[in-house]
Amino acid sequence: MSKGRLIIFSAPSGCGKGTMLAEILKDERFGVSVSATTRAPRTGETEGVNYYYLSEEEFQRRVDAGEFLEHAVYCEHQYGTLNSEVDRKLAAGVNVILEIEVQGAADVMKKRPDAITVFILPPSVEELRRRLHKRGTEPEEVIEKRIAQAEYEMGFAGDYKYNIVNDALEDAVSDFFAIIRAEELRTDINN
Ligand code: 5GP
Repeated sequence: MSKGRLIIFSAPSGCGKGTMLAEILKDERFGVSVSATTRAPRTGETEGVNYYYLSEEEFQRRVDAGEFLEHAVYCEHQYGTLNSEVDRKLAAGVNVILEIEVQGAADVMKKRPDAITVFILPPSVEELRRRLHKRGTEPEEVIEKRIAQAEYEMGFAGDYKYNIVNDALEDAVSDFFAIIRAEELRTDINN
């Protein structure tokens, strides 16, 4: 069986990353790497499915033991990709998606230059603002903070091999599969 491909998948909040991933994961050739984090589980989240929830001490112990492919701080919490999680799934022939923020992504790009790197963009910052308002879950100042964070993250979009604008979900998902197909057909890395 051939090994799976490593895929970095980054997007600012409000870009529809979760919905896109849910569609992609209906295809059994794809799986996600479950990350470790020190943040508390949100309602509806499950240990080992959404994240491995670790204490600060346990997270640090694993950093020291070299267990992470990458790790980064985001909104005052630690997040990291476990080597064991990625290697096990790649060996099983699964295309492994890392749903990670831009700093961790930059580390993985250095360590694994063969990774397929995809950044999801909103159609515009105005549209992002409209979507976050429509969701109606956050107060105005939190929305503005998220937009500022999104603009910061969008500054890294050019470091990724592929950018997808998520305007219509169906088109964005089909763009993703087109990228994967093109990567499978490359002569320079597949022969
Ligand atoms: P959330 O707390 O909303 O689940 O995730 C916050 C941010 O952390 C998101 O941008 C998500 O992509 C990122 N993230 C989740 N897991 C990891 C990880 O293992 N490493 C890095 N670098 N970022 C992660």
